Amino acid sequence: MVARVIPVETFDLVIFGGTGDLARRKILPGLFRRFLAGQMPADSRIIGAARSALDADGYRAMIADAIEEFGGDEKTNKKGVADFIARLDYVPIDAKGEGGWKALAELVRTDVVQAFYFSVGPSLFGDLAERLHKHKISTSDSRIVVEKPFGRDLESAQALNATLAEHFNESQIYRIDHYLGKETVQNLMAVRFGNVLFEPLWNNHYVDHIQITVAETVGVAGRGAYYDKSGAMRDMVQNHLMQLLCLIAMEPPSKFDADAVRDEKLKVIRALEPIEPHHIVRGQYEAGPDGPSYREDAENPRSFTESYIAMKTHIANWRWSGVPFYLRTGKRLKARASEITVVFRTNGHSIFEGEKDQQQNVLSIHLQPNEGMDLQVTIKEPGPGGMRLVSVPLDMTFADALGDQDVEVTDAYERLIMDVIRGNQTLFMRGDEVEAAWAWTDPLIDGWEARNDVPKLYDAGSSGPEDSLMLLHRDGRKWREIKG
Ligand code: NAD
Repeated sequence: MVARVIPVETFDLVIFGGTGDLARRKILPGLFRRFLAGQMPADSRIIGAARSALDADGYRAMIADAIEEFGGDEKTNKKGVADFIARLDYVPIDAKGEGGWKALAELVRTDVVQAFYFSVGPSLFGDLAERLHKHKISTSDSRIVVEKPFGRDLESAQALNATLAEHFNESQIYRIDHYLGKETVQNLMAVRFGNVLFEPLWNNHYVDHIQITVAETVGVAGRGAYYDKSGAMRDMVQNHLMQLLCLIAMEPPSKFDADAVRDEKLKVIRALEPIEPHHIVRGQYEAGPDGPSYREDAENPRSFTESYIAMKTHIANWRWSGVPFYLRTGKRLKARASEITVVFRTNGHSIFEGEKDQQQNVLSIHLQPNEGMDLQVTIKEPGPGGMRLVSVPLDMTFADALGDQDVEVTDAYERLIMDVIRGNQTLFMRGDEVEAAWAWTDPLIDGWEARNDVPKLYDAGSSGPEDSLMLLHRDGRKWREIKG
């Protein structure tokens, strides 16, 4: 089965910050793959706009190099690369001044789909929005894409929303969270809402608890100064983990459209209970054979910022009352692994002699390094020797199940950019969602700052601080092993 490619309308995509790290590493290699897949109409254009004094040829050469460095197997398609970069144009621009805006206005067409990707720091969002409007480049149909971080607390997120709202409607704003673009995240919704099998069990009668883990092996070296002002809570939990939590916990939307889905996600965030201080464990990695300590990386010997956080939270509604949600994320852990696990209850009575402990069914949704799902089920151990039971994973990884090498695993960025061109906001965060997430996060951060909470140290290459293991141990549970 070859993946279906649905062409999009002709577009002009302007990438502000088109020479930056994100544009070179993710956005343009992703667009290149969409181009090769035949999804980009022949007269569509991509226009880089950034501070560097380049001309169009200079930009094309830069992006050809970026594809060489960051592209996948497709980069060997030299003709493809040449045809793709021929679509590129470039305008040197100053977001904070007038330079370049006239040239951009002359270049961008108003009779095709227009998208403006703000791949720059949030301090420039307001300047870009204002100048796009002032120079009559954007129209009431234009779309803007904004990157994380969307604020650092409720107040700054509200200010950013207000700034963007001066020139764009909510239906034009695409707040990106690339976790939502992952194939498996969407597959999670298909599994939940496309089958009758899971939904009846998806509640506090049958679910014992849920774990969400986003573990990284890298530290913060190279961006320590930035990270030290943020920490794991702001950098990962408020956005990525919260979005995963919403998708796993939300009620079935009445239809799979942007507002129906986002309304349900918002209800989950608003139903999150405040967390008791002793249900939060913050940590910092120590120096290890592979690198310095967090404080050295952050160049702040007295930093109290967390490079690791684990927490237990509850959702106060009928479906989830009493079911703990354990979340954790951290740097310099033993493996790079992101996973959601739904651990089901047992019924407490085993009919099998000598098999008193029933194994729990566990649905695991793997987001990285490999995307896929499996369901742990109990079967009879094959062979003679009586009724011995064994727990085995039922592999639900779609590429294997569909039995074809051609099933295309689209990268999150390329999928999300094509959704912008199509005008589909389902996988983007709405302003009120982001604000609700900060409204829940802020008091927790204020709480540990007021208590002068000192993060617990953990060994680089470990599973995090000892106290985070205790968080579950106290409840008679344990974290899933972090496996890459
Ligand atoms: P970067 O520093 O590598 O690039 C910044 C870009 O902005 C450059 O193209 C630069 O020319 C342009 N720029 C800066 N000031 C400008 C001005 N006054 N006028 C016009 N252009 C200007 O940054 P990046 O890593 O590409 O990140 C861009 C945005 O994406 C940031 O908000 C970042 O937080 C976010 N982000 C980045 C990543 C990543 O992996 N790099 C991941 C998630 C989010």
